[in-house]
Amino acid sequence: MPEIIEIYNKKIGLGENAVVKLNIARLPTHTLIDLPVYIYRAPQDGPVLLLTACLHGDEINGLEIIRRMMIDSSLKLLKGTIIALPIVNVFGFIHLTRDLPDGKDLNRSFPGRKDGGSLASRVAYVMMNEIIPHIDYGIDFHTGGASRTNYPQIRCVADDPKNMELARAFAPSFIINAKLIAKSFRRAAYESGKYIIVYEGGESLRFDDLVIREGIEGTQRLMHWLGMINSSSVAESSVYIKSSSWLRARRSGIFRSHINYGDQVKKNEIIGSITDPYGESEFFIKSPVTGYIIGLNNLPVVNRGDALFHIGVAE
Ligand SMILES: [Zn+2]
Repeated sequence: MPEIIEIYNKKIGLGENAVVKLNIARLPTHTLIDLPVYIYRAPQDGPVLLLTACLHGDEINGLEIIRRMMIDSSLKLLKGTIIALPIVNVFGFIHLTRDLPDGKDLNRSFPGRKDGGSLASRVAYVMMNEIIPHIDYGIDFHTGGASRTNYPQIRCVADDPKNMELARAFAPSFIINAKLIAKSFRRAAYESGKYIIVYEGGESLRFDDLVIREGIEGTQRLMHWLGMINSSSVAESSVYIKSSSWLRARRSGIFRSHINYGDQVKKNEIIGSITDPYGESEFFIKSPVTGYIIGLNNLPVVNRGDALFHIGVAE
């Protein structure tokens, strides 16, 4: 880490905090859209950790994780630097949508283009050129989709030792092997020699306190492991999920889960049911494997084929 970090011509020295506003674009009203970047630097040299949330604009648990850390004393560092972007996809955030107004997924638009591309590729370009060169590691906070909630989990490339080291230091409930998706932020960072792990927890447009607390505590454990702060909570060891798949509805109707997200289930255990709306018929759903419920559908009205339970099989 250099003595001076320079973002958009703003120089931030050791022991300084700053907010830099990256100018992204304008709304159709010509209102300027800025991407605020919060920088916290310890007096002493050390690693640079990036915290990003709301790449998908409606996935707001990460915003709350970062906000709570910014207002308590979490970011008073012994050494190193935190660079925090609580809302990366400002456009999706103000529309309460995952994507940008043109339907582009920011997390499939990296590394982006300076000019001539979509708005998503412009945001991606700014991230890759103004932020990524300064960092060593990152945590990118996401949630499940609408009405589908994820139990707190870190997704990373399990056969990359550095990825696994970071995941184990975070110590979430579950560590899930996840390949690098083409044109994702995580992949573009990886190709620039930077390590970003993804935290998934909760569902879109809803705060989940368990997810928020696990996100904060895991981030603090990773910061402690990096020597940035002097203490953190101790976690139980993570369950490593080697494979997972969604169990889908085999008929339409009203779905009820008999278990909670995070629960361990046995093969052939009844874990839910689908009824008609009037109480005339009931069909039970059995788990096809022994595993853990890492994701769960919270919407009772289902069509045949809808995803109900994301079941992970441990190593
Ligand atoms: Zn997401």
